[in-house]
Amino acid sequence: MEKSRVLVVGGTGYLGRRMVKASLAQGHETCVLMRPEIGLDIDKLQMLLSFKAQGARLLEASLDNHRGLVAAVKQVDVVVSAMSGVHFRSHNLLLQLKLVEAIKEAGNVKRFLPSEFGMNPARMGHALEPGRVSFDEKMEIRKAIEEANIPHTYISANCFAAYFVPNLCQMRTLLPPKEEVHVYGDGNVKAIFMDEDDVAAYTIRCIDDPRALNKTIYLRPEENILSQNELIAKWEKLSGKVLEKIPIPSEEFLASIKGTDLANQVGIG
Ligand code: NDP
Repeated sequence: MEKSRVLVVGGTGYLGRRMVKASLAQGHETCVLMRPEIGLDIDKLQMLLSFKAQGARLLEASLDNHRGLVAAVKQVDVVVSAMSGVHFRSHNLLLQLKLVEAIKEAGNVKRFLPSEFGMNPARMGHALEPGRVSFDEKMEIRKAIEEANIPHTYISANCFAAYFVPNLCQMRTLLPPKEEVHVYGDGNVKAIFMDEDDVAAYTIRCIDDPRALNKTIYLRPEENILSQNELIAKWEKLSGKVLEKIPIPSEEFLASIKGTDLANQVGIG
């Protein structure tokens, strides 16, 4: 089977750069959107040039220029969007409505994968305010995709490992705790931790798979499903050091979010 040509939108982002790498590694002709708005951002430009050196094609277009975006989309079969959606970095999920418009008009795209890559937003009706904004916006994008009859795949990637594993799920840090560790509730709730490179590799695997057409794909390898207690135990074994456990009951956890900045409230929520 001929491999689809892929356009990665948000290609210099945390997840997007991994999508570019995975797409190239799996032998797809890979294009990356190069936005004129990057201006003097030398880091982004150099990353784009490194993609080019690895065989990617840079397609220059702005999300604000409908015609240019349609022309870019027309050159590929599959569009993968890794648009920002984390408040403490940047959060622009709804900009994808412009991408949906372009894909609809271009009419040639065989598969669109919008920026999801977390909990399945369709199953997050119970999520807290203000944190639910990302799920609500992801649902708004889904609605636009489905109304436009665009073939799609939604990837549910659960918890990115680098955000949740080295810190043993501690909030507001990415580093391992040294003496004590906050344990949420009884610490026995299971979560699914995904290596970000795996998220990208599995995502690219789905793009030409007919079984993934118009479906939600859950990434949940058996050995990545752990409770916080199990995660802590693994680290204690590795580091040879026992941490003091400080239980945080749910009411205390929720109360601790109040009054903090919005990005923190959204992230923790
Ligand atoms: P980033 O913050 O790294 O941003 C990704 C890209 O979004 C940027 O590189 C940029 O693309 C594009 N972008 C940002 N602002 C604008 C703008 N104003 N106009 C046009 N493009 C813009 O995103 P992440 O990689 O952190 O997040 C990607 C997805 O992954 C999101 O859906 C997020 O919710 C999800 N996620 C899931 C996590 C989990 O634990 N499951 C954790 C973190 C993220 P360009 O390259 O063109 O400059």
